[in-house]
Amino acid sequence: MVPSMVGHGEISAEEYIASMFERIERLDLGIHAYLQLDRGGALDKARALDRRVKNGGRLGKLAGMGVAVKDIICVRSLQATCGSKILEGFFPPYSATAIQRIEREDGIVLGKTNLDEFGMGNTTQNSAFGPTMNPWDLSRVPGGSSGGSGAAVAAGMASVALGSDTGGSIRCPASFCSVVGLKPTYGRVSRYGLIPYANSLEQIGPMGREAESVWLLFEAIAGHDPEDATSSTEPVRPLRAGGVEGLRVGRIKEFFGEGAQPKVKEKVMDGCARLETLGAKVGDLSIASLPYSLAVYYIIAMAEASSNLSRYDGVRYGLSAEKGTVDWNTAFSRTRSEGFGEEVKRRILLGTFVLSAGYYEAYYVRAQKVRELLTREFTLALKKFDVLLGPTMPVLPPKLGEKVTPLEDYLIDINTVAANLTGLPAISVPCGFVDGLPVGMQLIAPRFREDVLLTAAVAFGKGQGLKSPPLAEAA
Ligand code: GLN
Repeated sequence: MVPSMVGHGEISAEEYIASMFERIERLDLGIHAYLQLDRGGALDKARALDRRVKNGGRLGKLAGMGVAVKDIICVRSLQATCGSKILEGFFPPYSATAIQRIEREDGIVLGKTNLDEFGMGNTTQNSAFGPTMNPWDLSRVPGGSSGGSGAAVAAGMASVALGSDTGGSIRCPASFCSVVGLKPTYGRVSRYGLIPYANSLEQIGPMGREAESVWLLFEAIAGHDPEDATSSTEPVRPLRAGGVEGLRVGRIKEFFGEGAQPKVKEKVMDGCARLETLGAKVGDLSIASLPYSLAVYYIIAMAEASSNLSRYDGVRYGLSAEKGTVDWNTAFSRTRSEGFGEEVKRRILLGTFVLSAGYYEAYYVRAQKVRELLTREFTLALKKFDVLLGPTMPVLPPKLGEKVTPLEDYLIDINTVAANLTGLPAISVPCGFVDGLPVGMQLIAPRFREDVLLTAAVAFGKGQGLKSPPLAEAA
């Protein structure tokens, strides 16, 4: 069943959406991709769509597609948790611009998906509501922080999904769950209604099993929005007819560095070879300041997070400890102690530290300088190459509950954070399996050239056949 059948008399939107919920009922107990479902609302919308089909009305480009939404993006009247206890009981009074645009094109929101608290993590284990399992191997993590969205799409529990990517959170779960995930250029998609973690780095973006559906969803959500002053008016270009013929692909040496597992590197090298047989020209290059990108990212992301999260004071939103019974300072600190998880607290502390007098110049200002340097180096590299390439994640999906230090955990973001620091668009495409586990290949393009990324992703995916996790096939 494909959603495009809706409106062509082959299947009604109601039947399609109902079948999706049946699938969720059968599979999600073991995967835990969703935090909340909107069955009633989704079926109402599907029935309205069917009536429109009957009356010969206009159908949007996403007609009947079931969309899973990361629970850090506001959907009016559905609870928004950000995977945190601190937002308990918060129902946003408005929908994010991306959601409004999806609904304008007749896409149907199915529910909200699990994530690392406020997007902080790469395994979805930092959720206050328990972890999500990887549909390819239930004993492993799906990646994060948009792990619920990745798992939902991989297991066929949504046609497509929205994630958000501050330092890799769309591409990491795309890689670990063998789906396509796009982080758009900074400013391409409105951030209105995206609950902020680190504003200067993040974007909402599409995830899906095929590059084609990711492109459809991207086109629907892209574009200027008066509600977000950083959103751009740059038009979206169409996909290239010639595929990857003549595309200049630059393999970034640092992306194949020491920390990367040899089998993962080999798979991505195979992917490169495949691009070559499709007509691309592959060369190698080095980006000198890349080794600093992780440190720079974590300084800036934590600094912005510490400021963004100051709004959770127990007065304006969600959880409120000891309301009215103690003085305000005590209530404030109790609310935050109870409401935030360990990782979020760690980042608020570190972020406050790097912004404090005496350390601001040494950490934050210096990080911003290196960020500028990195941006210049990438801009230069993208004059020689049309896209830059490497493994999305340097490792295979780790086991759930595996004990790692926070630093070891941060290290696996090594290949994804540069695109956020530089604002460049980046995509992860499925690139085969090692020991039955998915490997993702990352491509990075010049600003506003998502068309190049998707052209390559479509060409790369052709003839590969869509594989499903065994458990989803049986369902
Ligand atoms: N893993 C990174 C972090 O924890 C990226 C998260 C994200 O993109 N939201 O900050």
